[in-house]
Amino acid sequence: SSDTTEDTKAKAKDVKFDPQQLYKKERGEEKEHLYMIVIGHVDAGKSTLMGHLLYELGQVNQRTMHKYEQESRKLGKQSFMYAWVLDETGEERNRGITMDVGRFQFSTKTKSVTLLDAPGHKDFIPNMISGAGQADVALLVVDATRGEFETGFDFGGQTREHALLVRSLGVTQLAVPINKLDTVSWSKERFDEIVKKLKGFLKQAGFKESDVTFVPCSGLSGQNLTSKPTENELVAWYDGPCLLEVIDNFRSPERPVSKPFRLSINDIFKGTGAAFCVSGRVETGTLSVGDKVLLCPNRESAIVKSLAIEDVSKTIVFAGDQATVTLSGIEMQNVSVGNILCDPQYPVSVASKFQARIVVFNVTVPITKGFPVVLHHQSLVEPAVVRKLISQLNKSTGEVLKKHPRFLGNNTSAIVEIQVSRPIALELYSECKELGRVMLRVGGVTIAAGLITKIIL
Ligand code: GDP
Repeated sequence: SSDTTEDTKAKAKDVKFDPQQLYKKERGEEKEHLYMIVIGHVDAGKSTLMGHLLYELGQVNQRTMHKYEQESRKLGKQSFMYAWVLDETGEERNRGITMDVGRFQFSTKTKSVTLLDAPGHKDFIPNMISGAGQADVALLVVDATRGEFETGFDFGGQTREHALLVRSLGVTQLAVPINKLDTVSWSKERFDEIVKKLKGFLKQAGFKESDVTFVPCSGLSGQNLTSKPTENELVAWYDGPCLLEVIDNFRSPERPVSKPFRLSINDIFKGTGAAFCVSGRVETGTLSVGDKVLLCPNRESAIVKSLAIEDVSKTIVFAGDQATVTLSGIEMQNVSVGNILCDPQYPVSVASKFQARIVVFNVTVPITKGFPVVLHHQSLVEPAVVRKLISQLNKSTGEVLKKHPRFLGNNTSAIVEIQVSRPIALELYSECKELGRVMLRVGGVTIAAGLITKIIL
């Protein structure tokens, strides 16, 4: 509407404006946006479940589906047809998208959902570096088959590790599909047994009981995915929501549009003429055409020439948007992936040392003082060293168990001091959760995830 244009102009001229109200005006009609990641042990049925869900929601066309059904039948692997669809559709969809995370889109009644990370990737942890850092909510898929749930949960499986990981990255809401319930004749006893075990663990891991929903289902047969179950044995004891309703019931994260502007750059490319573009997620605040921005950690200024979301030009973009920004007044070679664009009046911190509260999982050698790691912060990848082990914490309560531990093994939580090889742009988790999360990797394996608790200038 013309009102909106006026507001945008006011912002561009730096006249006082209310970003929250403007956001409502511009986007109020749209569905709330939710970023969701799918986690769980290998073979829990993540690909099949999501492939089937996307198919039922009309995200995969009939012809393609028919092709995969025939091909998979020919190979005697019909049970893989949905997983295949997801993998192949993923490749197609990813073409032209510069993100290193697989993305799928679907809608529920009130939400527009972006599924992060192609669940077909068996090697989940390395791939979730960018994924989990952006996720608002997670689906934790577990296999109800006798023996299989136990493998994934008790015996070094990934169920616990993934749940702890997303929690330590700030995800608070979980849906837990108790999958493959067809293999146990839809047994209520089996469902209850698994729920009981998971409840105890998830509570310990820091999830509120009211923020976790368990859903009996079968990704293969499609029971209870997008509509109420029809299987008699399941109908007999379950009348709760189907998976789609559970996703719809997630609370949407608030878009922090009133906070100072920050955008983390994940791609840089040539535009028309002398101009060039950067793209990335607007983590907080808003950005308008004509705004002055500061590129950190180098602290170089630039001007916003134009803005776009998926090739549609915009005069203003908001927190939560994946935006393309055309910049002027700055050299392209001075911009790198992982840099942060911010409001020059309220810039991000720039430092090479900070403290973080981390969770350690996956280490073959315990972490000791001086331990070299690769730091991942949004799209930034930088060598770093764990300088100090300050204290070991109780994982669920956060209470100090031990001061100055000599080493940190798997499944421990701790406060550590990290020294990066050069200054980076960062923020406290308490001030900006988007720029306050880090991951530590060694030899391509993620060994810890954490939240920045103190910046040492
Ligand atoms: P992922 O590794 O978690 O992505 O698991 P997949 O989706 O690749 O599935 C692993 C195996 O479990 C495949 O053989 C699937 O056909 C099978 N599977 C998946 N979902 C179900 C289900 O609901 N019921 C049964 N019986 N098998 C399933």
